[in-house]
Amino acid sequence: MTAVPPIEVPCPQCAVPADPESLRCPSCREDLAALVRLRYAGRIDYNEALAHVGAGEDAAALVLLRRAVAQEPGLRPAQDLLAEVSARTGTSGT
Ligand SMILES: [Zn+2]
Repeated sequence: MTAVPPIEVPCPQCAVPADPESLRCPSCREDLAALVRLRYAGRIDYNEALAHVGAGEDAAALVLLRRAVAQEPGLRPAQDLLAEVSARTGTSGT
């Protein structure tokens, strides 16, 4: 299990990906930080959950993984890890 890579968040107006450094649209200079945080929320939770799993804290990881899947249902690594941790702790993954 490894951390998931960042995703590109395009500007809603220009469809140009946000600049990874400034989190602004390179075209119209719109501040996309809030949008980026929203889109990244599931991955941030997933990466944090990975750290908990590594530390043997399955209960804490489960909370984060359920939230990650709710925030980004298509986040496959989070689904897989949720299933794995759920099976280990004997709780339902849903
Ligand atoms: Zn723009």
